[in-house]
Amino acid sequence: MTERDAWLKALARWSTASETDATAACPHCGRGEVRLRYVVDPDSRVGFALMWCDACGHGISVSRVRAPEGAPVRSIDDATATEGVPEFTRVE
Ligand SMILES: [Zn+2]
Repeated sequence: MTERDAWLKALARWSTASETDATAACPHCGRGEVRLRYVVDPDSRVGFALMWCDACGHGISVSRVRAPEGAPVRSIDDATATEGVPEFTRVE
């Protein structure tokens, strides 16, 4: 399994309707400081996801994803949609 696969698996396992999940361990460093942000079209809930670790600064960007029901989302039309997301190293 590549590191990107591990990140995608962590995204699929995301267990809370929140941008934080204390049970999610970072696939890169193993710490529990992973964050998730969905930036989507409000009607279709399709857009992209940013998932990163505040501890080590690694993460992934996933395009063409649908935000699950109940997950908090930001609108793709909102200029502040990625506010608070740090510059992180993309795991490709
Ligand atoms: Zn990490």
